[in-house]
Amino acid sequence: MRLMLLYRGPLASCNYDCPYCPFAKRRDSPDQLRTDRADLARFTDWVAANPHGDTLSILFTPWGEGLTRSWYREALTTLSHLPQVERVAIQTNLAGRLGWVADADPGSLALWCTYHPGQVTRERFLAACATLRGHGIRHSVGMVGLPEHHAEAVALRAALPAETYLWINAADGHTYGADDEARWTLIDPLFGFSARPHSSLGDECGAGETSLSVIGDGTVRRCHFLPEPLGNLYDGSYRAALRPRGCTASVCDCHIGYVHLKRLGLHQIFAGGVAERIPAVGAPTWGAPTAAVRSAAAESIPLR
Ligand code: SF4
Ligand code: SF4
Repeated sequence: MRLMLLYRGPLASCNYDCPYCPFAKRRDSPDQLRTDRADLARFTDWVAANPHGDTLSILFTPWGEGLTRSWYREALTTLSHLPQVERVAIQTNLAGRLGWVADADPGSLALWCTYHPGQVTRERFLAACATLRGHGIRHSVGMVGLPEHHAEAVALRAALPAETYLWINAADGHTYGADDEARWTLIDPLFGFSARPHSSLGDECGAGETSLSVIGDGTVRRCHFLPEPLGNLYDGSYRAALRPRGCTASVCDCHIGYVHLKRLGLHQIFAGGVAERIPAVGAPTWGAPTAAVRSAAAESIPLR
């Protein structure tokens, strides 16, 4: 079976201080960190043992920042070399040192990188992206579509190579009018998928069939957004629950969820890059919006 696992351990601390985030500058206690590390080791061992002979794609979606912790770097490196792992990715702010990626398999490691203006300079973030390119590590780059960050997004798009996909997430609680949506769509041609929540009640979703959410103790759910457990990873009790079914929530408004909502066709758009949010078709076409954005940036935003 081909399965995507979204893993989220207890870790909930971050080195950044984003005003829009509940995990900003939070600290985990030594006990929480020990538990997080032990849970991740157990998960990594389970993937290595692969008791059901699956082909696995794994996305780490920590509440906070994982790559500042050695155990996430080590897990990503180890998992990248396993033949049953076709992709292993993590959501990260890209603040940590990146030398460790040299030990990972660039054929399966990927990073989902978010740029947080105000927490890091654009130059430093771009330098980290260049390091990833230098090691041949697949990565997407993105930002939260806050109005006050639009100019930064334009400048980031202009500075990134055309083949790097830059996604924009709609900001929580923010409504995008047609003009607003159009200007963000110039940066991310797929922004329309994020601009509004998707009604999902009763619509068939791959979450619970080909994609699962796993938390530190092994509890398996369809996705991070529906609370009902399907079983536990480590006793195999979730297997009997894997099947196609409709969503039981009225809306789905997070990319890592609605990417599996079948009527949207996003598995086709992101074929081969669902975990790290890289569209299959794209490298040449990102150049089109990029060209417009490049000239806008050149006129209005001097690249520092
Ligand atoms: S980098 Fe991510 S986890 Fe950290 S404070 Fe910012 S939004 Fe929150
Ligand atoms: S549509 Fe969203 S909330 Fe519903 S099952 Fe899929 S991922 Fe979960």
